[in-house]
Amino acid sequence: MATLKNGILSAPHVHQRIYAGLEKGHLPHVHALVIHQTGAPTAQHTFNSYQNSGHGAHFLIDKSGTIYQTAHLNRKTHHVGKIKSKCYETRICSKAQLQAVATILLQKGVSYSAITKNLHDAEKIKAYPDRYPLNEDSIGIEIVGNYNTQASAYESVSAVQNQSLQWLLGELFGFFKLSKADVYRHPAVSYKTATEASTATW
Ligand SMILES: [Zn+2]
Repeated sequence: MATLKNGILSAPHVHQRIYAGLEKGHLPHVHALVIHQTGAPTAQHTFNSYQNSGHGAHFLIDKSGTIYQTAHLNRKTHHVGKIKSKCYETRICSKAQLQAVATILLQKGVSYSAITKNLHDAEKIKAYPDRYPLNEDSIGIEIVGNYNTQASAYESVSAVQNQSLQWLLGELFGFFKLSKADVYRHPAVSYKTATEASTATW
């Protein structure tokens, strides 16, 4: 039986390993959950990077299926990056909205990085779920999994990792009144390698 108090998820198989450097201020609302893979072979690699970098997520699921909580759930972390347009990717929006996005995407004489920034700036002012989740309203879950440069793909999420993920999602659905529709793989939301978390299921 899990409890959530002051941003800490307490349960027998959730280990607390909070990295204060990951926490970037208040996270008042959680509208969505974003699933990642670390691109590193062990949890320790990620813990080492968390000591020095300000980028990370709220949970880390180890190879063994052990769940570590690495940031308070009422604290924002930097795990998403610039978001794509949900309207453009899913086409579930009005014609006028789609037209506005297309205008940004097709702007001539503008660099790719400027286009992605302009698109992010236009998307972030929309209300969820009309846009993809932001750092400002989502919880990030990292799954330990290396990126294989020869195969140009992330390794598969294991059965025990996936079991832990599903348990964790179930708890978070309950605490934050979310559903499967609010769970996103990182590459669906932002500009990431397509295979990141592609083998995770829920
Ligand atoms: Zn990611």
